Amino acid sequence: MRIHNPRYERLDRDAVRTLQTERLGDVLAAAMATNPFYREHWRRAGADVSRVDSLEALAALVPTVEKADFLADQREHPPWGERLAHAVSLREPLQIYTTSGTSGQGVEVHAQTPRELASMIEMYGYMFRWAGLEPGDLALLTLPLTMLGGGRIEWEGAVGYGLTVLPAGSYDAARKLDLLRQFRPKALYGSTSYFGHLAAVADTQPPCDSIEVLLTGLEGVGFSYLENLAASWQAPVADRFGCTQLRSDFMFTCEHGIGSAARPGLLHNLDPFMITEVIDPETGRHVADGEFGELVVTSLYHLDNPVVRCRLRDGGIWHDAGYCPCGRPFGGVEVASVTRTDDVHKVKGVLVFPQAVDDLVFSFTEVDEYEVVLTSDARLADILTLRVMTHAAAPEGFPEAVAQALHRKIGIHGEVVVAADVPRSTYKARRWRDERER
Ligand SMILES: [Zn+2]
Repeated sequence: MRIHNPRYERLDRDAVRTLQTERLGDVLAAAMATNPFYREHWRRAGADVSRVDSLEALAALVPTVEKADFLADQREHPPWGERLAHAVSLREPLQIYTTSGTSGQGVEVHAQTPRELASMIEMYGYMFRWAGLEPGDLALLTLPLTMLGGGRIEWEGAVGYGLTVLPAGSYDAARKLDLLRQFRPKALYGSTSYFGHLAAVADTQPPCDSIEVLLTGLEGVGFSYLENLAASWQAPVADRFGCTQLRSDFMFTCEHGIGSAARPGLLHNLDPFMITEVIDPETGRHVADGEFGELVVTSLYHLDNPVVRCRLRDGGIWHDAGYCPCGRPFGGVEVASVTRTDDVHKVKGVLVFPQAVDDLVFSFTEVDEYEVVLTSDARLADILTLRVMTHAAAPEGFPEAVAQALHRKIGIHGEVVVAADVPRSTYKARRWRDERER
């Protein structure tokens, strides 16, 4: 086993909960003392956080917070909002990250102080160690360094752990492939779909034979996409999950990796640093092992910029710690089950999870890239068109075979079209276009 810190990784479950409860008390006290945004948010909801003495009480007594609350605060108190006022007043060098604004609601601003960054770097140590990387190893980062969290957070985490990192994100794919062949790094580090893009445009398979691990992340994909990546790079996948609101990744696969299609691996939540609830949004209750729910996260180390019960609008399948054969005391979310809850589309009355479509489409090894276009017919009934780009000329009967599988496995009828102009992602894949009339 690749143990990064036995002090935490060998705790029993009760000790983990005790540790979380203690740290939660510190976070809530700090937020009450220094953060007018949270103080007011809780006052309006009638929540007395001094009564929170357990993880159950946190879920029962404390209201969630989300994007719309952050944006309203920033509008009233530009540019930081009252939420970040304390951190700004400390006169320390801050890491500032914005969200991309692709939701159309606005751009969130998040910050972390040096001591928060130090804890974040500690968390990344688990990921790199579990993925088989040691300080001094070489990684090529495919993400550009911008105002976004994704990219700079990965950079800080890797440099803090002691990796040598090539910041290749701002170059085009051909230049990245040149850099891979010139420097022969051990790890490719970036966003999942971009690794597929690099493999698709490379003229050799694998594109670079020095790569020993693919550090995927930033987006949910189906299991078969991860399997195809591992095959085309001839390297195992180590996956991660995080979000800008937390300013870090905090769930990582262990040495068991992504597992198998029949039994996918576990993204272990780093419990000493983070509380991740997976709730049924209807009832607010934590879902049972094996059930899909929405992620609500609380940071246990952000004492200057608290994050308490932040609703991410991301969902995943929860598993208790015992699910993973490694025996670590950390539960988490099943590999390839994470999806934007807003991206779950209702098509012809059927709830369609993008991951399920992803998994099905990429199980056809002919497929290079695809997109789903939802439109309406004259009677406002839904039409689903699956536009598929193949590596080589599609074999006879290929569209029909995909359409049949779509109906058999997902339960929806759709038209499958082979196309040469399906857009490729360079950052996060956006494979669904909803152009239905409302
Ligand atoms: Zn494990």
